[in-house]
Amino acid sequence: MRDETKCLHAGYTPKNTEPRVMPIVQSTTYVFDSTDDIGAVFDDPTKNLIYSRFANPTVMAVEAKIAALEGGAAAMCTSSGQAASLLSILNLCDAGDSFISTTQIYGGTVNLFSYTLKKLGIECVFVDADADAATIDAAFKANTKAVFGETLANPALKVLDIEKFAKAAHAHGVPLIIDNTFATPILCKPFEYGADIIVHSTSKYMDGHALQVGGVIVDSGTFNWANGRFPAFTEPDESYHGISYTETYKESAYIIKARMQLMRDYGVYPSAHSAFLLNLGLETLALRMERYCENALKVARHLQKSDKVASVTYPGLPGDSNYALAQKYLKGSSGVISFVIKGGKENAVKFMDALTLASNEVHVADIRTCVLHPASATHRQLTPQQLVAAGIEPGMIRFSVGLENIDDIIEDIDRGFQAV
Ligand SMILES: *Cc1c(COP(=O)(O)O)cnc(C)c1O
Repeated sequence: MRDETKCLHAGYTPKNTEPRVMPIVQSTTYVFDSTDDIGAVFDDPTKNLIYSRFANPTVMAVEAKIAALEGGAAAMCTSSGQAASLLSILNLCDAGDSFISTTQIYGGTVNLFSYTLKKLGIECVFVDADADAATIDAAFKANTKAVFGETLANPALKVLDIEKFAKAAHAHGVPLIIDNTFATPILCKPFEYGADIIVHSTSKYMDGHALQVGGVIVDSGTFNWANGRFPAFTEPDESYHGISYTETYKESAYIIKARMQLMRDYGVYPSAHSAFLLNLGLETLALRMERYCENALKVARHLQKSDKVASVTYPGLPGDSNYALAQKYLKGSSGVISFVIKGGKENAVKFMDALTLASNEVHVADIRTCVLHPASATHRQLTPQQLVAAGIEPGMIRFSVGLENIDDIIEDIDRGFQAV
């Protein structure tokens, strides 16, 4: 199946007289005929459903669909994108371990990696996404367990050279984890460039409708966990009657370990109802991504033409510093643009407040056009000097292009310009 078809059909194939649509299986638990039947499921938890803290049929249908879209072996949904990033690391790192991340990643992930994981004894070593091979190589230590990066970084809109980081990770026997939220599998399939694990915030384009927060981890199924660096995969798991994940589950080892250890213990599994809504978003993902890219390129070109704009950042624009990487890795640059309006914060606020179609909100990748002025919202506490150091110019606006008619979006932008 191709992507458009997978969006509609992967993950659930009804049999004779079964419902056309995957039903919401709203149940915490599942019934067994006998004590022996329950015992057998505890011997091998992949054989049947046990409890909806770590497995549910509605959620699993979505997991299978996303795994198919990414070309992976298995997936596990989580209750947020943050939970997906957290578990993707905890599945590999114990206290005393470290991992490498590029600096151009989502702000929430920076907090998680720099502060919360540090308290758990896990160190994150940051390297610039543009670092050369030697610099990346020098960041590895004996206890490095993974490399992390973002395909199309939120909010920097930096496109990652996935092959460069995959090569470095594999040379040191560790996997590359990619946050593919902004690109989605429709615009980029990181496994094809050597990534081993993919995480998403499904709250963005996958859900698409700003309905519910969620996340997912996808495993390529191709990384060799038995290379000596990951004893937690090969040695008996005392918390699971001495199972060895690589021996028993082979190419599904990563996701089954994440499900049976981490999801069992942390319990950040989404509800069946959330998965049902996420599936509705996924059904039109391929179609929507095409239009987001088309609308955003038109908006970016329109902004570029205005004498009220100092600069436009959109990797799909010829001349953008990420254009070449975007051409290589992305089938389109998705719907998020950032631009700097002349006249700093004062004009940015005037522009924003004059918009009547685009809503002012803390979200991106919605079906509706939305805008955010980082200097007065997410980065409000910073002084003008600190803003510049953080790469946030006072006149910078993050514009998330929606699926309204392009002429209405452009008219709204012009309304903003008139107020400046
Ligand atoms: C939003 C986002 C996250 C966090 O996801 P939540 O669903 O909000 O927890 C992680 N990575 C990226 C790239 C994001 O945009």
